[in-house]
Amino acid sequence: MISRQEAQELDVADPLRARRDLFIIPDKTLYLDGNSLGPLPRHVAKRLAGAVSEEWGQSLIRGWNAHGWFDLPRSLGDRIGKLIGAPPGSVIAADSTSINLVKVLTAALKLRPGRKVILSDSGNFPSDLYVAQGIIKALGGNDELRVVAPEAVEAAIDDDLAVLMLTEVDYRTGRRHDMKKLIARAHQKGGLAIWDLCHSAGAFAVDLIGGNADFAVGCGYKYLNGGPGAPAFAYVRPDLQDKVEPSLAGWMGHAAPFAFDLDYRPARGIDRLRAGTPGVLSMIAMDCALDVWEGVDMQTVRDKSVRLAELFIAEVEGRCGRHGLRLASPRNADERGSQVSFHCEDGYAVMQALIAQGVIGDFRAPDIIRFGLTPLYIGFTDVWDAARILEKVLAERLWDRPEFKKRAAVT
Ligand SMILES: *Cc1c(COP(=O)(O)O)cnc(C)c1O
Repeated sequence: MISRQEAQELDVADPLRARRDLFIIPDKTLYLDGNSLGPLPRHVAKRLAGAVSEEWGQSLIRGWNAHGWFDLPRSLGDRIGKLIGAPPGSVIAADSTSINLVKVLTAALKLRPGRKVILSDSGNFPSDLYVAQGIIKALGGNDELRVVAPEAVEAAIDDDLAVLMLTEVDYRTGRRHDMKKLIARAHQKGGLAIWDLCHSAGAFAVDLIGGNADFAVGCGYKYLNGGPGAPAFAYVRPDLQDKVEPSLAGWMGHAAPFAFDLDYRPARGIDRLRAGTPGVLSMIAMDCALDVWEGVDMQTVRDKSVRLAELFIAEVEGRCGRHGLRLASPRNADERGSQVSFHCEDGYAVMQALIAQGVIGDFRAPDIIRFGLTPLYIGFTDVWDAARILEKVLAERLWDRPEFKKRAAVT
């Protein structure tokens, strides 16, 4: 454990310190939930207001050409690509993560005819498993979703594998898979690999090309700060793109959308992963939000994330261990994403009480309290203060009140 003054000295020496001024963080708030919804970058509101009043208001239908609306899925995709090690033209911004997963999972299954197994793990985000279950039913029930424990994935990759479908970082514990190793193993057995990067993109450097990933999806509203319901993204390995047969074959992914042919012909390249009209306003907001990454080195982000996590773990264990908190995340930083989670009895009420004290994290059933560490706008003093307030909530049993036990729809 360290003193608050020592934490402040770490902030003074932090090369990312000035970035926090790019964000609006409400007063008296320690925001440790950027892994659920990133905060608002300061300059987005004005840009978005202008897009509404000028582009939509004045340009009307002409805006599609005049303001580049039609190209946004590609141009935004390329900007996201820079953060995940994907070359230009390999990422499309569109729809939600779940919908993009439908697109890439059906495409991957088609590329491996005769193979039936979709392999995933019990640490995956449930929506991903639901998508796989839904696709299997829609395709007639002949494929199989095999779900094993995260540690058992590597050994479960065998000659039956059609598609390995994993989330790199476990949304509950922050446990991180060795993507490169698992892709190599899937390829060695003749399968393909899809990665969900919801807790990776913007959290640390991702290297899709270097890791030889086949497909990836991820969302825009967590570490990428794109705003609630921001467009998600999909990546397809460049040499696979023209082999993809889109199952969501909409007009925006047609080779000539405005020819209005009666028959579908996919566009070349990543554009065929477009389906319908993009959400232009949310794309503009996200495009603008990505400015905060300009000039940022992801290794600097990662280094700070690890140091924030180590400080937070040491402070929370030192202060709250006697109140029954147990680390749920891997202790080894190499096996962790950019969040720290603890098992906590009455975790729901504890988190509600913590939020009432201005420390915003979140709760994941059955007993996990979760804290996102986002180096662009979180400092060392913030996590030090958060640990001290958590200690107070536990020591004084501030959580033990009926209003903190009532469950809201979104936890
Ligand atoms: C947040 C999250 C999603 C969200 O999916 P949407 O369809 O965009 O709501 C998907 N997968 C993982 C791993 C997530 O953490």
